Amino acid sequence: MMQRRTRQRDTIRAVIERANRPLDVQDVLARARRHVPRLGIATVYRTINALLADGIIVPVEIPGRPVTYERANLRHHHHFYCTACKKVYEMEGCLLGTRPAAPCGFKVESHEITLFGTCAACA
Ligand SMILES: [Zn+2]
Ligand SMILES: [Zn+2]
Repeated sequence: MMQRRTRQRDTIRAVIERANRPLDVQDVLARARRHVPRLGIATVYRTINALLADGIIVPVEIPGRPVTYERANLRHHHHFYCTACKKVYEMEGCLLGTRPAAPCGFKVESHEITLFGTCAACA
């Protein structure tokens, strides 16, 4: 039992860490099942929550869409959401200049940017 849980967790972690884009729960389930065919959705949810709690993965939230997840230790980057295939893509680097225009007296701590459009496969 313990070993099976460890294997499931390792598989789910590897699926998220090796993906070239953030994955939602259904994506994770489909990919992890290639290695653990009898894996259930409840296990995927439970494992994702544990990986989040351990700071190994982070959520990528786009309003109105299922949450996707990516490895936590990526460099700062932005995301591109394809409105056709509903996939979230990672974009390299930062689109903002060095000084974002916040109101006077406001202190910026972080930012998130999501571009919306169609990916190369869908365009
Ligand atoms: Zn697309
Ligand atoms: Zn940025």
